[in-house]
Amino acid sequence: MVIFMKNEKARARYLRQPAYYKDFSCIGGACPISCCLVWRVDWTAAEVEKLKNAECSEHLKSLIDSSFNKMENSEKYIVHMDEKNRCPFLTEDNFCSIQRELGEDYLSYTCKVYPRRSILSGGVMYRCCNLSCYHVVDTLCNDKDCMKLENILPKSSQAIREKAYKDKELDLINYPELRYRSDLFEFFYEILSDESVSIETSVILGALAAQKLSEYIGKGKADMIPDIIKALRGQLGNKEQLASIENIKPNYMHKMPFLFELNKLIIKSNLFDNVKSDGKFYLPKYIEGENAFNKYIEENPFVLRNIALNLWIEIKMPYRNDSMTLFENYGNYIAAIAAAKMLGACIFASGKDPVKGFKAALAYVSRSFSHNENNVKIIDELIKKYNGVSPAYLAVLIK
Ligand code: SF4
Repeated sequence: MVIFMKNEKARARYLRQPAYYKDFSCIGGACPISCCLVWRVDWTAAEVEKLKNAECSEHLKSLIDSSFNKMENSEKYIVHMDEKNRCPFLTEDNFCSIQRELGEDYLSYTCKVYPRRSILSGGVMYRCCNLSCYHVVDTLCNDKDCMKLENILPKSSQAIREKAYKDKELDLINYPELRYRSDLFEFFYEILSDESVSIETSVILGALAAQKLSEYIGKGKADMIPDIIKALRGQLGNKEQLASIENIKPNYMHKMPFLFELNKLIIKSNLFDNVKSDGKFYLPKYIEGENAFNKYIEENPFVLRNIALNLWIEIKMPYRNDSMTLFENYGNYIAAIAAAKMLGACIFASGKDPVKGFKAALAYVSRSFSHNENNVKIIDELIKKYNGVSPAYLAVLIK
């Protein structure tokens, strides 16, 4: 549960968040795939100290005394998992024993805030929850309108308890395009929300816009971003353009090697085992899974769109990495959606409760693309290796 924020104090004029956000709460023991398994959680020395001084049962006390290890070269502590890779504070019925006995105040910051994350941009705080939480994914897959953005006025500074990511002053000087983070965020969110075309087409239209904007920004014209956005609104998505994008067919010769490598380097799942025959990758089986997954998406078109919209916020788009161009950042975003589709195809190929399997597998996408900063450059290099330097090539990766 590592949070990527830069620990800025949050001061927002208003909050902008998906409709599901305000009602989100952890479902604890009812969660089929608790986040309190496998993941390493950091605690500060002060948080551990507070817990050690709490009055609690003998059982909890002994757990507290035996469960924290100080990290090397750091003031932080980690909770070491038990032999079943579960958080030792997790009860048999999957509740947190610290929260149950002492209340939320005694949890670490990470445990309190997870799976929420926030980005502060120009006085607007964008918020969402990570796809690594099963309950969040379940909501996205069942509630068509849950990604509609709502504006909320913060009641007080206490009302915002999470720390928000915020661009540093120096970055705003070095990369003036970051001053338009909100304009760009809203523009792309609008493209990605357009239900009159498939989500793949929306994403490819976004790639065309990202390329155009990147060209201007590269020529030192970041201040023209609002004007370029206005012009692009009129140009993108004419009839012929939409028809030619919708008609792009999957190119397995090009996309499969990319997906294999993405899985090997970044996602690290064993789900390609589902599409093997005689121990080797078997394309017809993958295509069979892909067709079954596509059928599920055709029947529930909002599912992939909601996932794509949540990823847009979750992976801090349009600038996941300030030092990369808008188009390069967009490549990371497309790779995340390609990964979600690839996992869907592999899981639907197995046929065993595929919808539940797909929801659970999205944690891989969240962990690989939003929790791990180091992956951003690796993904960028991988995309370039596979010629993803134009919208046409990026299109092949998600078709
Ligand atoms: S994954 Fe989500 S719902 Fe499940 S235990 Fe964690 S925070 Fe709660």
